[in-house]
Amino acid sequence: MLVFACETSCDETSICILDNNNIVEHIVFSQEIHDKFGGVVPELASRSHLEILQKITKKVFSQNNIFPEKIDVFCATCGPGLIGSLLVGATFTKSLAISLGKPFVPINHLEGHILSSSFNNNITYPHLVLLLTGGHTQFYLMTNNKEIKLLGESVDDAIGEAFDKIAKMLGLGYPGGKEIERMAKNGDENFLKLPKPLINDGSFNFSFSGIKTHLNLIIKKNELNEKFIEDVSASFQKTMSEIIIQKLLTGIDILSKRNIFIKSISIVGGVANNEYISKNLETLFDQSKIKLCYPIKEMMSDNAAMIAWACFVNYNKYKNNIFFKPQPRLKINERL
Ligand code: ZN
Repeated sequence: MLVFACETSCDETSICILDNNNIVEHIVFSQEIHDKFGGVVPELASRSHLEILQKITKKVFSQNNIFPEKIDVFCATCGPGLIGSLLVGATFTKSLAISLGKPFVPINHLEGHILSSSFNNNITYPHLVLLLTGGHTQFYLMTNNKEIKLLGESVDDAIGEAFDKIAKMLGLGYPGGKEIERMAKNGDENFLKLPKPLINDGSFNFSFSGIKTHLNLIIKKNELNEKFIEDVSASFQKTMSEIIIQKLLTGIDILSKRNIFIKSISIVGGVANNEYISKNLETLFDQSKIKLCYPIKEMMSDNAAMIAWACFVNYNKYKNNIFFKPQPRLKINERL
């Protein structure tokens, strides 16, 4: 099955052609126009998607000598995300599908992330998924390869958002995750002791806004020199890693009391790129019976390959639905 997928939920414009479980072509264009604003400007994102989509789609077909008529199914992210951006990607892909008389399948962006690690890992169930992105911080339970259940999530900021905001306070660039990780390499991770909200509340929920407020007060009182930025970055990154680890351990424990014994864990989303956090997690699960899974690098941040993959593995579950309207707050398991 040849799948054409489009992802435009935020500031990444991405197209993928997937031939069964083989990525034929995958282009991810990260819009740099937002960098100077320290965050995504929705109107600029929509305009850029429109411009870039046409260019990269042409390129994808011509570079691989694939005739659009050969595509079996067209799919696009239809939520959650920025509504203007979603509309551009969905309408663009629907137009291709209509003009070629092919099915159009709307895909939930979160499902794309959640299923991304099954592309390169043999997932065993029950499976715990920790989704860590700029828009979401969520725990999901999968008892088989079809059912996805939300267990808990951040009650305020998403983890990636926290990284971006702290980076901005420190005068670092956007996206903040990479910048914090870079500065943290030479910093003293014990420089600051930061709060860890909801760490012992026995739930699957997270909270990051208190850490942000706490750090904001400290940063305002200090001079932003390199050493200070490095030390704050290292302390912040260490705290985030500790929260993730503690929450994972608590989660596994809560589930075991419900007689659900987790066999594998996936860390998915852009924050999975953080090598400091992933090294700590690898050490933690090194001797464990629980298998730790990550997606391939190109399926970590927002990308069309995970959308194509979700379409491919769940094609029987999805329906051809050209009339589906993109929804900015689409939830998992919501009918598409
Ligand atoms: Zn995402």
